[in-house]
Amino acid sequence: MNKLIKRDLKYIWHPYTQMKECRDFPPILIERAKGLKLYDDKGNFYYDTISSWWCNVHGHNHPKIIQAIQTQADKLEHILFAGFTHQPAIELAEKLVKITPQGLNKVFFSDNGSTAVEIALKMSLQYWLNHGKKNKNKFIALDHAYHGDTIGAMSVSGIGLFNELFKPLFFKSFRTASPYCYRCPMEKERTSCSLACIKPLEKLIKKNRNEIAAIILEPLVMAAGGMIIYPKEYLEQAVTIAKRNHIHVIFDEVATGFGRTARMFAANHIDTSPNFLCLSKGITSGSLPLAATLTTDNIYDAFYADHKDKKTFYHGHTYTANPIACAAANANIDIFKQEKTLANTKIPLALFHQKLEKFQELSSVGDVRCLGAIGAIELVKNKKTKQPFAFTERIGLKIYKEGLKRNLILRPLGNVTYFFLPLCVTEKEIEYILDNTYRIIKVSGK
Ligand SMILES: *Cc1c(COP(=O)(O)O)cnc(C)c1O
Repeated sequence: MNKLIKRDLKYIWHPYTQMKECRDFPPILIERAKGLKLYDDKGNFYYDTISSWWCNVHGHNHPKIIQAIQTQADKLEHILFAGFTHQPAIELAEKLVKITPQGLNKVFFSDNGSTAVEIALKMSLQYWLNHGKKNKNKFIALDHAYHGDTIGAMSVSGIGLFNELFKPLFFKSFRTASPYCYRCPMEKERTSCSLACIKPLEKLIKKNRNEIAAIILEPLVMAAGGMIIYPKEYLEQAVTIAKRNHIHVIFDEVATGFGRTARMFAANHIDTSPNFLCLSKGITSGSLPLAATLTTDNIYDAFYADHKDKKTFYHGHTYTANPIACAAANANIDIFKQEKTLANTKIPLALFHQKLEKFQELSSVGDVRCLGAIGAIELVKNKKTKQPFAFTERIGLKIYKEGLKRNLILRPLGNVTYFFLPLCVTEKEIEYILDNTYRIIKVSGK
Protein backbone atom coordinates (compact mmCIF):
# COMPACT_ATOMS: atom_id res chain seq x y z
CA MET A 1 0.00 0.00 0.00
CA ASN A 2 1.17 3.50 -0.88
CA LYS A 3 2.78 5.28 2.11
CA LEU A 4 0.43 8.26 1.85
CA ILE A 5 -2.61 5.97 1.90
CA LYS A 6 -1.24 4.30 5.03
CA ARG A 7 -1.01 7.70 6.69
CA ASP A 8 -4.50 8.55 5.47
CA LEU A 9 -5.95 5.44 7.06
CA LYS A 10 -4.04 6.10 10.26
CA TYR A 11 -5.38 9.63 10.74
CA ILE A 12 -8.43 10.33 8.59
CA TRP A 13 -12.10 9.46 9.02
CA HIS A 14 -13.80 9.85 5.61
CA PRO A 15 -17.42 10.97 5.05
CA TYR A 16 -20.15 8.41 4.30
CA THR A 17 -17.50 5.73 4.65
CA GLN A 18 -17.34 2.48 6.57
CA MET A 19 -13.67 2.81 7.45
CA LYS A 20 -13.36 -0.93 8.05
CA GLU A 21 -13.79 -1.50 4.32
CA CYS A 22 -10.92 0.86 3.51
CA ARG A 23 -8.38 -1.83 4.40
CA ASP A 24 -9.33 -3.84 1.33
CA PHE A 25 -10.66 -0.97 -0.69
CA PRO A 26 -8.61 2.11 0.21
CA PRO A 27 -9.41 5.59 -1.09
CA ILE A 28 -7.87 6.46 -4.45
CA LEU A 29 -5.07 8.98 -4.25
CA ILE A 30 -5.69 11.76 -6.74
CA GLU A 31 -2.74 13.95 -7.65
CA ARG A 32 -4.15 16.30 -10.25
CA ALA A 33 -7.18 16.94 -12.41
CA LYS A 34 -8.02 18.58 -15.71
CA GLY A 35 -11.42 18.94 -17.35
CA LEU A 36 -13.38 15.76 -16.74
CA LYS A 37 -10.33 13.71 -15.78
CA LEU A 38 -8.89 12.89 -12.35
CA TYR A 39 -5.37 11.41 -12.34
CA ASP A 40 -4.16 9.11 -9.57
CA ASP A 41 -0.69 8.34 -8.24
CA LYS A 42 -0.43 5.18 -10.35
CA GLY A 43 -0.95 6.95 -13.67
CA ASN A 44 -4.62 5.95 -14.05
CA PHE A 45 -7.30 8.45 -14.87
CA TYR A 46 -11.02 8.53 -14.04
CA TYR A 47 -13.85 10.44 -15.66
CA ASP A 48 -15.50 12.58 -12.99
CA THR A 49 -19.02 11.64 -14.08
CA ILE A 50 -20.57 12.99 -10.87
CA SER A 51 -18.79 16.37 -10.87
CA SER A 52 -17.05 15.59 -7.56
CA TRP A 53 -20.27 15.49 -5.59
CA TRP A 54 -22.24 17.71 -7.95
CA CYS A 55 -19.95 20.73 -7.65
CA ASN A 56 -17.82 20.95 -10.72
CA VAL A 57 -19.36 22.87 -13.60
CA HIS A 58 -16.73 23.90 -16.16
CA GLY A 59 -14.25 21.06 -15.64
CA HIS A 60 -11.45 20.71 -13.10
CA ASN A 61 -8.82 23.43 -12.88
CA HIS A 62 -10.43 25.76 -15.37
CA PRO A 63 -7.71 28.37 -16.08
CA LYS A 64 -10.05 31.34 -15.56
CA ILE A 65 -11.13 30.14 -12.14
CA ILE A 66 -7.59 29.31 -11.08
CA GLN A 67 -6.46 32.76 -12.28
CA ALA A 68 -9.25 34.49 -10.31
CA ILE A 69 -8.28 32.58 -7.16
CA GLN A 70 -4.61 33.45 -7.54
CA THR A 71 -5.27 37.13 -8.23
CA GLN A 72 -7.59 37.47 -5.23
CA ALA A 73 -5.27 35.54 -2.89
CA ASP A 74 -2.54 38.08 -3.67
CA LYS A 75 -4.77 40.97 -2.53
CA LEU A 76 -7.00 39.85 0.32
CA GLU A 77 -7.50 36.31 1.60
CA HIS A 78 -10.18 36.80 4.24
CA ILE A 79 -11.87 39.33 6.47
CA LEU A 80 -14.82 39.28 8.82
CA PHE A 81 -18.06 40.15 7.05
CA ALA A 82 -19.88 42.13 9.74
CA GLY A 83 -18.87 45.77 9.66
CA PHE A 84 -16.63 45.04 6.65
CA THR A 85 -17.13 44.20 3.01
CA HIS A 86 -15.14 43.65 -0.18
CA GLN A 87 -15.43 43.94 -3.93
CA PRO A 88 -15.65 40.21 -4.81
CA ALA A 89 -18.71 39.78 -2.54
CA ILE A 90 -20.38 42.94 -3.83
CA GLU A 91 -19.87 41.89 -7.44
CA LEU A 92 -21.07 38.38 -6.73
CA ALA A 93 -24.23 39.51 -4.95
CA GLU A 94 -25.02 41.76 -7.90
CA LYS A 95 -24.43 38.93 -10.37
CA LEU A 96 -26.52 36.45 -8.39
CA VAL A 97 -29.45 38.84 -8.23
CA LYS A 98 -29.17 39.34 -11.99
CA ILE A 99 -29.09 35.66 -12.98
CA THR A 100 -31.59 34.22 -10.49
CA PRO A 101 -35.40 34.35 -10.89
CA GLN A 102 -37.09 37.70 -10.55
CA GLY A 103 -37.67 39.22 -7.11
CA LEU A 104 -34.72 37.64 -5.32
CA ASN A 105 -32.89 40.86 -4.56
CA LYS A 106 -30.99 40.18 -1.34
CA VAL A 107 -28.06 37.84 -0.80
CA PHE A 108 -26.95 36.29 2.50
CA PHE A 109 -23.64 34.42 2.24
CA SER A 110 -22.44 31.32 4.07
CA ASP A 111 -20.15 28.43 3.22
CA ASN A 112 -22.02 25.20 2.49
CA GLY A 113 -25.36 23.82 1.37
CA SER A 114 -26.62 22.86 4.82
CA THR A 115 -26.04 26.35 6.17
CA ALA A 116 -27.70 27.91 3.12
CA VAL A 117 -30.78 25.82 3.97
CA GLU A 118 -30.72 26.52 7.70
CA ILE A 119 -30.48 30.24 6.99
CA ALA A 120 -33.61 30.11 4.81
CA LEU A 121 -35.48 28.18 7.54
CA LYS A 122 -34.46 30.64 10.24
CA MET A 123 -35.23 33.68 8.11
CA SER A 124 -38.66 32.32 7.26
CA LEU A 125 -39.52 31.61 10.87
CA GLN A 126 -38.24 34.98 12.08
CA TYR A 127 -40.10 36.76 9.29
CA TRP A 128 -43.38 35.48 10.72
CA LEU A 129 -42.25 36.32 14.28
CA ASN A 130 -41.31 39.85 13.22
CA HIS A 131 -44.85 40.12 11.88
CA GLY A 132 -46.28 38.92 15.20
CA LYS A 133 -47.20 35.45 13.92
CA LYS A 134 -45.80 33.26 16.68
CA ASN A 135 -47.35 29.99 15.59
CA LYS A 136 -45.96 29.83 12.10
CA ASN A 137 -42.89 27.85 13.07
CA LYS A 138 -43.12 24.52 11.26
CA PHE A 139 -41.98 23.39 7.83
CA ILE A 140 -43.19 21.03 5.15
CA ALA A 141 -40.75 18.62 3.59
CA LEU A 142 -41.13 15.89 0.99
CA ASP A 143 -40.35 12.23 1.50
CA HIS A 144 -37.00 11.43 -0.18
CA ALA A 145 -35.91 15.07 0.10
CA TYR A 146 -32.35 15.87 1.10
CA HIS A 147 -31.31 19.26 2.40
CA GLY A 148 -28.06 18.53 4.24
CA ASP A 149 -26.58 16.72 7.20
CA THR A 150 -26.81 19.29 10.00
CA ILE A 151 -29.64 18.76 12.50
CA GLY A 152 -31.90 21.47 11.09
CA ALA A 153 -31.38 20.39 7.50
CA MET A 154 -32.01 16.76 8.47
CA SER A 155 -35.23 17.83 10.19
CA VAL A 156 -36.62 18.90 6.81
CA SER A 157 -35.24 15.97 4.82
CA GLY A 158 -36.87 12.65 4.05
CA ILE A 159 -36.17 9.96 6.63
CA GLY A 160 -33.79 7.30 5.37
CA LEU A 161 -30.54 5.46 5.87
CA PHE A 162 -28.47 8.64 6.28
CA ASN A 163 -30.43 10.32 9.05
CA GLU A 164 -32.88 7.87 10.66
CA LEU A 165 -30.64 7.35 13.68
CA PHE A 166 -30.75 11.01 14.60
CA LYS A 167 -34.52 11.33 14.53
CA PRO A 168 -34.77 12.06 18.27
CA LEU A 169 -32.93 15.32 17.63
CA PHE A 170 -35.15 16.57 14.79
CA PHE A 171 -37.62 19.41 15.24
CA LYS A 172 -41.09 18.44 14.14
CA SER A 173 -41.86 18.95 10.46
CA PHE A 174 -44.74 17.93 8.28
CA ARG A 175 -43.81 15.37 5.67
CA THR A 176 -45.75 14.47 2.60
CA ALA A 177 -45.51 12.08 -0.35
CA SER A 178 -43.02 12.99 -3.04
CA PRO A 179 -43.68 12.98 -6.79
CA TYR A 180 -41.60 9.84 -7.34
CA CYS A 181 -43.30 8.70 -10.53
CA TYR A 182 -41.58 5.33 -10.92
CA ARG A 183 -42.69 4.34 -7.42
CA CYS A 184 -45.79 6.48 -7.32
CA PRO A 185 -47.01 7.03 -3.75
CA MET A 186 -50.58 7.10 -5.11
CA GLU A 187 -49.99 3.93 -7.16
CA LYS A 188 -50.94 5.60 -10.41
CA GLU A 189 -49.44 5.98 -13.88
CA ARG A 190 -48.09 9.36 -14.94
CA THR A 191 -50.13 9.35 -18.17
CA SER A 192 -53.42 9.25 -16.26
CA CYS A 193 -52.64 10.41 -12.71
CA SER A 194 -53.80 14.04 -13.08
CA LEU A 195 -51.05 14.78 -10.55
CA ALA A 196 -52.85 12.98 -7.73
CA CYS A 197 -49.83 13.40 -5.41
CA ILE A 198 -50.43 17.14 -5.12
CA LYS A 199 -53.68 16.45 -3.25
CA PRO A 200 -52.12 15.28 0.05
CA LEU A 201 -49.87 18.33 -0.02
CA GLU A 202 -52.79 20.65 -0.62
CA LYS A 203 -54.76 19.06 2.21
CA LEU A 204 -51.82 19.34 4.58
CA ILE A 205 -51.29 23.01 3.73
CA LYS A 206 -54.94 23.95 4.05
CA LYS A 207 -55.31 22.22 7.39
CA ASN A 208 -52.13 23.56 9.00
CA ARG A 209 -51.35 26.82 7.26
CA ASN A 210 -51.45 28.86 10.47
CA GLU A 211 -48.63 26.75 11.87
CA ILE A 212 -46.50 26.50 8.74
CA ALA A 213 -43.71 28.93 7.98
CA ALA A 214 -42.52 27.45 4.71
CA ILE A 215 -42.32 24.50 2.38
CA ILE A 216 -38.87 23.45 1.25
CA LEU A 217 -38.38 21.82 -2.15
CA GLU A 218 -35.57 20.66 -4.37
CA PRO A 219 -37.02 21.92 -7.64
CA LEU A 220 -37.40 19.19 -10.31
CA VAL A 221 -34.64 16.90 -9.04
CA MET A 222 -34.58 15.25 -5.63
CA ALA A 223 -30.89 14.56 -5.88
CA ALA A 224 -29.60 12.59 -2.89
CA GLY A 225 -32.97 10.83 -2.64
CA GLY A 226 -32.00 8.93 -5.79
CA MET A 227 -31.97 11.53 -8.58
CA ILE A 228 -35.75 11.50 -8.62
CA ILE A 229 -36.75 13.78 -11.49
CA TYR A 230 -40.32 14.94 -11.28
CA PRO A 231 -42.87 16.78 -13.46
CA LYS A 232 -42.63 20.57 -13.45
CA GLU A 233 -46.41 20.70 -13.07
CA TYR A 234 -45.97 19.38 -9.53
CA LEU A 235 -43.52 22.15 -8.75
CA GLU A 236 -45.78 24.81 -10.28
CA GLN A 237 -48.79 23.65 -8.33
CA ALA A 238 -46.93 23.23 -5.04
CA VAL A 239 -45.66 26.82 -5.32
CA THR A 240 -49.09 28.16 -6.24
CA ILE A 241 -50.83 26.37 -3.38
CA ALA A 242 -48.22 27.48 -0.85
CA LYS A 243 -48.34 31.12 -1.93
CA ARG A 244 -52.12 31.19 -1.97
CA ASN A 245 -52.06 29.97 1.64
CA HIS A 246 -49.40 32.43 2.86
CA ILE A 247 -46.63 29.93 3.22
CA HIS A 248 -43.08 30.72 2.09
CA VAL A 249 -41.48 28.68 -0.64
CA ILE A 250 -37.83 27.71 -0.23
CA PHE A 251 -36.07 26.32 -3.31
CA ASP A 252 -33.01 24.33 -2.39
CA GLU A 253 -30.95 24.54 -5.58
CA VAL A 254 -27.72 23.50 -3.90
CA ALA A 255 -27.51 20.63 -6.40
CA THR A 256 -29.56 21.87 -9.36
CA GLY A 257 -28.16 25.40 -9.58
CA PHE A 258 -25.66 26.65 -12.17
CA GLY A 259 -26.79 24.96 -15.32
CA ARG A 260 -27.19 21.38 -14.26
CA THR A 261 -30.77 21.06 -15.50
CA ALA A 262 -29.89 22.73 -18.85
CA ARG A 263 -31.23 26.06 -17.55
CA MET A 264 -29.22 28.27 -15.20
CA PHE A 265 -31.52 27.26 -12.34
CA ALA A 266 -34.20 24.59 -12.06
CA ALA A 267 -36.51 27.44 -11.04
CA ASN A 268 -36.17 28.79 -14.59
CA HIS A 269 -38.29 25.88 -15.83
CA ILE A 270 -41.35 27.47 -14.20
CA ASP A 271 -42.74 31.02 -14.19
CA THR A 272 -43.03 31.78 -10.48
CA SER A 273 -40.20 32.65 -8.10
CA PRO A 274 -39.64 31.23 -4.63
CA ASN A 275 -39.30 33.41 -1.52
CA PHE A 276 -35.89 31.87 -0.81
CA LEU A 277 -33.26 30.30 -3.03
CA CYS A 278 -30.40 28.26 -1.56
CA LEU A 279 -27.21 27.93 -3.59
CA SER A 280 -23.88 26.23 -2.99
CA LYS A 281 -22.08 23.30 -4.71
CA GLY A 282 -21.80 24.64 -8.29
CA ILE A 283 -21.44 28.26 -7.21
CA THR A 284 -17.63 28.20 -7.46
CA SER A 285 -17.62 25.44 -10.08
CA GLY A 286 -16.41 23.14 -7.34
CA SER A 287 -13.25 25.05 -6.55
CA LEU A 288 -13.88 26.49 -3.06
CA PRO A 289 -16.62 26.25 -0.40
CA LEU A 290 -19.25 28.98 -0.62
CA ALA A 291 -23.01 29.31 -0.33
CA ALA A 292 -25.69 31.94 -0.69
CA THR A 293 -29.29 32.24 0.43
CA LEU A 294 -31.22 34.69 -1.71
CA THR A 295 -34.49 36.28 -0.68
CA THR A 296 -36.96 39.03 -1.56
CA ASP A 297 -37.26 42.65 -0.54
CA ASN A 298 -40.42 41.74 1.34
CA ILE A 299 -38.58 39.27 3.60
CA TYR A 300 -35.63 41.64 4.03
CA ASP A 301 -37.93 44.52 4.99
CA ALA A 302 -39.45 42.51 7.85
CA PHE A 303 -36.02 42.59 9.55
CA TYR A 304 -35.23 46.21 8.69
CA ALA A 305 -36.03 48.11 11.89
CA ASP A 306 -34.60 50.03 14.81
CA HIS A 307 -32.08 48.10 16.87
CA LYS A 308 -34.30 48.22 19.94
CA ASP A 309 -37.10 46.41 18.08
CA LYS A 310 -35.00 43.21 18.12
CA LYS A 311 -35.78 42.27 14.55
CA THR A 312 -32.14 41.74 13.52
CA PHE A 313 -31.14 38.43 11.95
CA TYR A 314 -28.53 37.17 14.42
CA HIS A 315 -26.87 34.55 12.30
CA GLY A 316 -23.49 34.21 10.65
CA HIS A 317 -20.62 31.89 9.84
CA THR A 318 -16.96 32.65 10.28
CA TYR A 319 -16.04 32.17 6.63
CA THR A 320 -19.07 34.04 5.30
CA ALA A 321 -18.37 35.48 1.85
CA ASN A 322 -14.71 34.50 1.83
CA PRO A 323 -13.14 36.81 -0.78
CA ILE A 324 -11.20 34.08 -2.61
CA ALA A 325 -14.31 31.91 -2.86
CA CYS A 326 -16.33 34.91 -4.09
CA ALA A 327 -13.70 35.61 -6.75
CA ALA A 328 -13.95 31.99 -7.90
CA ALA A 329 -17.75 32.27 -8.03
CA ASN A 330 -17.54 35.46 -10.09
CA ALA A 331 -15.25 33.70 -12.56
CA ASN A 332 -17.64 30.72 -12.66
CA ILE A 333 -20.58 32.94 -13.59
CA ASP A 334 -18.51 34.91 -16.14
CA ILE A 335 -17.50 31.69 -17.89
CA PHE A 336 -21.16 30.85 -18.56
CA LYS A 337 -21.35 34.01 -20.65
CA GLN A 338 -17.85 33.98 -22.16
CA GLU A 339 -18.03 30.36 -23.26
CA LYS A 340 -21.79 30.25 -23.96
CA THR A 341 -21.86 27.18 -21.74
CA LEU A 342 -25.59 26.51 -21.78
CA ALA A 343 -25.89 26.80 -25.56
CA ASN A 344 -22.81 24.64 -26.11
CA THR A 345 -24.10 21.78 -23.97
CA LYS A 346 -27.23 21.31 -26.10
CA ILE A 347 -25.76 18.81 -28.58
CA PRO A 348 -23.74 16.73 -26.08
CA LEU A 349 -26.71 16.57 -23.70
CA ALA A 350 -29.09 15.48 -26.47
CA LEU A 351 -26.70 12.61 -27.16
CA PHE A 352 -26.55 11.89 -23.42
CA HIS A 353 -30.33 11.58 -23.20
CA GLN A 354 -30.52 9.46 -26.32
CA LYS A 355 -27.88 7.06 -25.02
CA LEU A 356 -29.52 6.84 -21.60
CA GLU A 357 -32.77 5.74 -23.21
CA LYS A 358 -31.04 2.58 -24.41
CA PHE A 359 -30.51 1.42 -20.82
CA GLN A 360 -34.26 0.76 -20.60
CA GLU A 361 -33.77 -2.48 -22.55
CA LEU A 362 -31.55 -4.04 -19.86
CA SER A 363 -33.25 -6.59 -17.60
CA SER A 364 -31.92 -5.05 -14.37
CA VAL A 365 -32.96 -1.51 -15.24
CA GLY A 366 -36.31 -0.46 -13.80
CA ASP A 367 -36.31 3.23 -14.56
CA VAL A 368 -34.26 5.71 -16.53
CA ARG A 369 -34.70 9.41 -15.86
CA CYS A 370 -32.86 12.47 -17.07
CA LEU A 371 -32.86 16.24 -17.12
CA GLY A 372 -30.00 18.34 -18.48
CA ALA A 373 -26.67 16.95 -17.30
CA ILE A 374 -28.34 14.67 -14.75
CA GLY A 375 -29.22 11.10 -15.61
CA ALA A 376 -30.22 8.23 -13.34
CA ILE A 377 -30.62 4.49 -13.79
CA GLU A 378 -32.65 2.75 -11.09
CA LEU A 379 -31.64 -0.89 -10.85
CA VAL A 380 -34.17 -3.53 -9.88
CA LYS A 381 -34.09 -7.22 -9.11
CA ASN A 382 -37.37 -7.80 -10.92
CA LYS A 383 -38.34 -5.49 -13.72
CA LYS A 384 -42.01 -6.54 -13.70
CA THR A 385 -42.68 -6.18 -9.97
CA LYS A 386 -40.11 -3.35 -9.51
CA GLN A 387 -38.69 -5.33 -6.60
CA PRO A 388 -35.51 -3.55 -5.52
CA PHE A 389 -32.15 -5.21 -4.99
CA ALA A 390 -31.66 -5.97 -1.30
CA PHE A 391 -29.48 -3.61 0.78
CA THR A 392 -27.02 -6.49 1.34
CA GLU A 393 -26.60 -7.17 -2.39
CA ARG A 394 -24.87 -3.82 -2.87
CA ILE A 395 -25.52 -3.73 -6.58
CA GLY A 396 -24.45 -0.09 -6.75
CA LEU A 397 -21.08 -0.89 -5.21
CA LYS A 398 -20.56 -3.79 -7.61
CA ILE A 399 -21.09 -1.44 -10.53
CA TYR A 400 -18.88 1.21 -8.92
CA LYS A 401 -15.98 -1.25 -8.66
CA GLU A 402 -16.38 -2.32 -12.28
CA GLY A 403 -16.57 1.34 -13.27
CA LEU A 404 -13.18 2.10 -11.74
CA LYS A 405 -11.63 -0.58 -13.97
CA ARG A 406 -12.96 1.33 -16.97
CA ASN A 407 -11.94 4.85 -15.90
CA LEU A 408 -15.37 5.73 -14.56
CA ILE A 409 -16.61 7.03 -11.22
CA LEU A 410 -20.07 5.47 -10.94
CA ARG A 411 -20.61 6.25 -7.29
CA PRO A 412 -24.16 5.07 -6.56
CA LEU A 413 -27.02 6.34 -4.43
CA GLY A 414 -28.31 3.05 -3.08
CA ASN A 415 -29.63 1.13 -6.09
CA VAL A 416 -29.40 4.12 -8.38
CA THR A 417 -26.41 4.54 -10.66
CA TYR A 418 -26.34 8.07 -11.94
CA PHE A 419 -24.46 10.72 -13.88
CA PHE A 420 -24.16 14.31 -12.79
CA LEU A 421 -21.95 15.60 -15.57
CA PRO A 422 -19.81 18.71 -15.68
CA LEU A 423 -21.20 20.99 -18.41
CA CYS A 424 -17.91 20.91 -20.32
CA VAL A 425 -18.49 17.25 -21.23
CA THR A 426 -17.93 16.47 -24.93
CA GLU A 427 -19.79 14.10 -27.22
CA LYS A 428 -16.74 11.86 -27.33
CA GLU A 429 -16.64 11.65 -23.55
CA ILE A 430 -20.37 10.90 -23.41
CA GLU A 431 -19.89 8.07 -25.91
CA TYR A 432 -17.16 6.54 -23.79
CA ILE A 433 -18.90 7.00 -20.45
CA LEU A 434 -22.33 5.75 -21.51
CA ASP A 435 -21.12 2.85 -23.68
CA ASN A 436 -18.91 1.52 -20.91
CA THR A 437 -21.55 1.96 -18.24
CA TYR A 438 -24.01 0.09 -20.45
CA ARG A 439 -21.64 -2.87 -20.71
CA ILE A 440 -21.00 -2.87 -16.97
CA ILE A 441 -24.69 -2.82 -16.02
CA LYS A 442 -25.48 -5.47 -18.61
CA VAL A 443 -23.02 -7.85 -16.95
CA SER A 444 -23.24 -6.81 -13.28
CA GLY A 445 -27.01 -6.52 -13.19
CA LYS A 446 -27.48 -10.17 -14.18
C1 LIG B 1 -25.58 18.54 -1.03
C2 LIG B 1 -26.86 19.17 -0.75
C3 LIG B 1 -27.07 19.92 0.42
C4 LIG B 1 -26.03 20.03 1.49
O1 LIG B 1 -24.90 20.70 1.09
P1 LIG B 1 -23.54 20.57 1.94
O2 LIG B 1 -22.62 21.55 1.32
O3 LIG B 1 -23.08 19.15 1.75
O4 LIG B 1 -23.87 20.87 3.35
C5 LIG B 1 -28.27 20.56 0.58
N1 LIG B 1 -29.25 20.46 -0.34
C6 LIG B 1 -29.09 19.75 -1.47
C7 LIG B 1 -30.20 19.71 -2.46
C8 LIG B 1 -27.91 19.07 -1.72
O5 LIG B 1 -27.75 18.34 -2.82
